[in-house]
Amino acid sequence: MTSPSIPTAASLPPTPAANGDGNSPWLRLLPALADDDPDEAAVTDALLEAVDLPADLAALVEGLADLLENATAVGTRRAYAADWAEFADWTARHRLEALPAEPRTVALYVTAQQDRLRPATLLRRLSAIAVAHRTAGHPSPTSAELVRRAVAGLRRKHGARPAGKTALVTAPLAVICGRLHAQETSAEQLVAAAADLSGAPGAAAARRRLAGRVRAAHAGALRARRDRALLLVGYAAALRRSELVALDLGDLTETEQGLQVFIARSKTDQAALGDFVGITHGHPVDSCAVTCPIRAWAGWRDMLGTELDRLAEPLHPQAPAFRPLTRHGQIGVPGQLDPHARLTGQSVALIVKNAVALLDDPDRHPPQAYAGHSLRAGFATQAAASGVPLDRIMRQTRHRSVAVALRYIRPGQIWHDNPSAALGL
Ligand SMILES: [Zn+2]
Repeated sequence: MTSPSIPTAASLPPTPAANGDGNSPWLRLLPALADDDPDEAAVTDALLEAVDLPADLAALVEGLADLLENATAVGTRRAYAADWAEFADWTARHRLEALPAEPRTVALYVTAQQDRLRPATLLRRLSAIAVAHRTAGHPSPTSAELVRRAVAGLRRKHGARPAGKTALVTAPLAVICGRLHAQETSAEQLVAAAADLSGAPGAAAARRRLAGRVRAAHAGALRARRDRALLLVGYAAALRRSELVALDLGDLTETEQGLQVFIARSKTDQAALGDFVGITHGHPVDSCAVTCPIRAWAGWRDMLGTELDRLAEPLHPQAPAFRPLTRHGQIGVPGQLDPHARLTGQSVALIVKNAVALLDDPDRHPPQAYAGHSLRAGFATQAAASGVPLDRIMRQTRHRSVAVALRYIRPGQIWHDNPSAALGL
């Protein structure tokens, strides 16, 4: 029997950076870390950020954080406790020892959090790990060469934009849908309030004053409703942006089971026969939430129908499903108000970026990291992480090549039914 070899960095599982396109969607799938850092923690962050030590002095950050801890005792200690809890939780999920932690565990933790946390936040986490070890009488793994190199690499990488587009998965998408829906309803309330004024003394003047706001709110609601439908249909049907843009009204059919989407033109279908993709309710049919693609689609189609009606235009089945809107809520592009205009691929990318901006969390969700492809990549990533088998994912994404599909699927899937768990170790 050979003695167990000491693991080296090379023997560790591939990091997401080794995952081809530089995109690391699986990192984003790790359960969301607490984002309610106490204010004191933000102060510590800002202080550490301002110091911005070069990599060779990174170890000093521990000591510095200690000083800061003494300075802002209670708040920072609370932040440390929260930071330590995050680390301990991460190690538990990955069946790694938290105390004492091996340097490679901490190095992998740094790798896993690199795209989620600002470097200053990550350094504070490392300080918390160091403090916990010292308190328990262990040497700190954070001063090990492997960890210091990982932190140095992180610092060099910081600021570099990820090459691939980030996958937009269900959790952030649900928040986005909530915000878009709030925009839709606030407009409805304003319209109702304006209508309520009729007959009241001074109503005409008040209505005139309200008219501008009502128009703006209506334009916002129209856009919000279109965007929510586009995001949800694109995500649930795993559509390419070109496919979203090419969708006609007649390509979406509501059935008893859900929404049937016909994709007429597809990169992988040169014969142009088209593909059918289904979207079902992921919930009891009578309890559709703001994230229901089927309800969102119906809502947008109805609103579009009303708008076209006012223009005496029909809801023609061969006209685009999603249409450009002007700032003033007119259908079409400015200066060329064709109510049957089509969105472009770039406008889909912009819709996704604007939607991500609603998350108001540029650290974890920088809008520039997202684009049209984020919906399709998000579908594959989320489905894989949720344990959907490869063949079923590929049926929806219509990937013909297993290799290409796996680029998206594998990162989301590695922890699901991981076969190494069956080795009896
Ligand atoms: Zn539903």
